[in-house]
Amino acid sequence: MPGHPNLSIKGTFDMHSDKTILVTGGAGFLGSHLCDRLIADGHHVICLDNFHTGRRSNIAHLLHHDRFEVVRQDVTDPVRAEVQEIYNLACPASPVHYQADPVRTVQTNVIGAINMLDLARRTGARLFHASTSEVYGDPLVHPQTEDYLGNVNPTGPRACYDEGKRCAETLLSDGRRQHGLRLRMARIFNTYGPRMRPDDGRVVSNFIVQALRGEPLTVYGSGEQTRSFCYVDDLIAGVVALMAAPDDVPQPVNLGNPVEFTMLQLARLVLDLTGSRARLDMRPLPQDDPVQRRPDITRATTHLDWQPAVPLREGLIRTIAHFDSVLGQRPASPLP
Ligand code: NAD
Ligand code: UDP
Repeated sequence: MPGHPNLSIKGTFDMHSDKTILVTGGAGFLGSHLCDRLIADGHHVICLDNFHTGRRSNIAHLLHHDRFEVVRQDVTDPVRAEVQEIYNLACPASPVHYQADPVRTVQTNVIGAINMLDLARRTGARLFHASTSEVYGDPLVHPQTEDYLGNVNPTGPRACYDEGKRCAETLLSDGRRQHGLRLRMARIFNTYGPRMRPDDGRVVSNFIVQALRGEPLTVYGSGEQTRSFCYVDDLIAGVVALMAAPDDVPQPVNLGNPVEFTMLQLARLVLDLTGSRARLDMRPLPQDDPVQRRPDITRATTHLDWQPAVPLREGLIRTIAHFDSVLGQRPASPLP
């Protein structure tokens, strides 16, 4: 796994390939599922990751695949590679992790986007960028359409992520206008599934891990705040459909599941599905925590013919099974 600044990826693949595709953040939760999908589709995949929140175990099954290559590198260091497509996912996504080093989070978003823009310009590659529903901040419009401009506190603890992602959207939109960048930009809403880290810190993994361990479920605030949870397989299908879409599809595109739940509803569902009798531990609401969030996915359904298929209950069952095997515990009998 070589890695150094100004890296030039020579491409050791044979010439009978389909596309050669760079996935930054490819060892993370979403990135590793995307690598799986691209390999299954017959492409050559270069996974670039600094392993900040990503893990080798997420991609261990791909390491010996002859169409898969890993490069340990930071996305803020310039990258040279001969690729036809770029998926830029490098950035910690959990508030716990992106707030641990906020200056670094801004750098990853902004310098990473500049580097991917430069690479796309040099190679003519299509560039998919993973933006986020967090660009809407604590939204005053509900559900959120792509033309809602958002309500972000630029100096709060979430701003390193929200404003970093907003600046990346600005950079790449300018790259499209100024240089004809073939841009695909998704605003991804809360996505969950297997391969989230047990210590990820986001609500779905926290609740499941706590329930499986028989620990109290940490509910922040009243628990009445809402989110809309998308299962990872649905999200990856949307990401790939967006990359394949024509250049004139309006950008950005919301990708998420439009069914909305309160955190209390989520907690009860997780307790029900794990058979846990753990209690709820009500904690203070973090600053600037959005009160409500639900995507309007009209643009995605219209232009990509995409919509999520996995209901929350089904996705949670699959995710619980994953964490159950990772944690080595069985939730079959209710925990005390
Ligand atoms: P994740 O933390 O599991 O994955 C991020 C990956 O990026 C990790 O492998 C990490 O090691 C890598 N990374 C971080 N900083 C890097 C850097 N400077 N250089 C190289 N690699 C770096 O998070 P995820 O949930 O898989 O999210 C992936 C992308 O999708 C992120 O850009 C995130 O902002 C975006 N997103 C995710 C969600 C979601 O609900 N999962 C929602 C909105 C947006
Ligand atoms: N949350 C919670 N308990 C947790 C972790 C998160 O109640 O253990 C809440 C959090 O305050 C927020 C919602 O769940 O209102 C979603 O949080 P997450 O960090 O998963 O995503 P984001 O806030 O970035 O949408």
